[in-house]
Amino acid sequence: MTLSTDDTIVAIATPPGQGGVGIVRLSGPHAWEIGRRLFARRSTSAMRPQRLYYGTVIDPADGAALDDGLIVGMRAPHSYTGDDVIEINAHGSPLVLRRIVAAALAQGARAAEPGEMTLRAFLNGRIDLAQAEAVADLIAANSDAAARQALGQLEGKLSERVRTARDAVLRALAPIEASIDFPEDEVPPPDRAALSSLIASAETVTAELLAGAEQGRISREGIRCVITGRPNVGKSSLLNSLLRVERAIVTPIAGTTRDTIEESAIIGGMAFHLIDTAGITATEDPIERIGIERTRHALSHADLALLVLDRSAPLTEADHQIAQELRDLGFSTARKLIVVLNKSDLAPFPAFGRDGETLRRDVSVGLRAHLTERPPLSSFAGEELAQSVPVIATSVVTGEGLPELETAMVTAALGNAATESAALVARARHVEALRGASAALAAAQKTLRDHLPLDLVAEDLRDAVYALGLITGESVTDDLLGAIFSEFCIGK
Ligand code: GDP
Repeated sequence: MTLSTDDTIVAIATPPGQGGVGIVRLSGPHAWEIGRRLFARRSTSAMRPQRLYYGTVIDPADGAALDDGLIVGMRAPHSYTGDDVIEINAHGSPLVLRRIVAAALAQGARAAEPGEMTLRAFLNGRIDLAQAEAVADLIAANSDAAARQALGQLEGKLSERVRTARDAVLRALAPIEASIDFPEDEVPPPDRAALSSLIASAETVTAELLAGAEQGRISREGIRCVITGRPNVGKSSLLNSLLRVERAIVTPIAGTTRDTIEESAIIGGMAFHLIDTAGITATEDPIERIGIERTRHALSHADLALLVLDRSAPLTEADHQIAQELRDLGFSTARKLIVVLNKSDLAPFPAFGRDGETLRRDVSVGLRAHLTERPPLSSFAGEELAQSVPVIATSVVTGEGLPELETAMVTAALGNAATESAALVARARHVEALRGASAALAAAQKTLRDHLPLDLVAEDLRDAVYALGLITGESVTDDLLGAIFSEFCIGK
């Protein structure tokens, strides 16, 4: 990775393949000079920034025409990279675009590395590191929620909070360092209570950011949703309905979905990674047992589970086993659970009622009736379920209840609205840095409380400043920059 901005880089900025328009971007001190040479139009010698000029793109080596196109120039610092920038809009032909790049290289430009344009924006101080990462996230966003999250970060919402915390720590650090550097008669010793309250204000910010991190991850990456239930209740059919395509094999023979199947769907602007699981049933079949292991693995990593029951049949031992498994994994408490009463087009088994409220009660009663001899299960099936877990009757055959199910899934994915608006943190890297900062701040408070020397407090505070600076980029290493920018595409 090149950390200098001294040379001029060139890359195709549009995606590979054919298209209506293709853009070649040049950035650096010689961008204008090289860009103008690639253009036959005489008036580009008097080219002004931020204006489009039309003309013939040529290879300056022999004057051969390469394409017709538009050229626009931006002057530093008023450009994406903060350098002088030229963009040539040509036809979206990979061959033509490659020839334009080759001509620029022959004129002294260097081929840009992946993400190098955005790296320059960072090095030139146009954006900070969290904003640079947001560019990659926005480009990669595959749902409205992910795009919203990335845009907020690009606008600097996360950076602003992190800087607030970092500034508070720096304000606590300054008087301590002054008191270490100068004798007591020149600088009065810092007031410990004032230090503690500055540290506390930084702690509040890191705690708030960490509280929204789970929601942020879900917005950025999507929610992992497992569809579980005993064989033949309609899990694969439900998955297909949610995906609106035929993907899992649906057959009337119990236990045919032997493997887990994962597909992504956008529902209500959120990405859902739907995992159809093999039902968990006691079995001797080694292949089914592998499927069951995969189910357990999928369940242990899921954010949301749909427990599918067949409303037209009595609850079975297998239903209870799965319910217990879900309860043990924290679904319905720490993790979200939705009970789906499928096959609602068929006559209901008497234990299940028809409308929402009776369904809710009856599913509890129904489960409980089967479980009276086994107390741990009855508590799952009793009040807890009745209170907090949505119970939705669906029919994959008629489509009844599917919109309600989708709404319940989106509600579960959004968490509560308060945390969604605070969901500024989405990357594991940021969470790690915030945890580091928060631990350092707690250590500083303890050192203060224990009346230990202030230079020990200063050490903790410097750790916190460093950790917070990892997010916005004040504390960076070349390795970190390399890791972040290598994720970008060429030309960005
Ligand atoms: P899985 O084993 O839980 O994945 O269940 P499948 O999706 O393979 O469905 C098992 C059987 O139930 C198939 O014959 C489906 O057509 C049928 N089925 C699924 N959903 C419904 C439903 O809502 N109503 C009715 N009547 N049949 C359904």
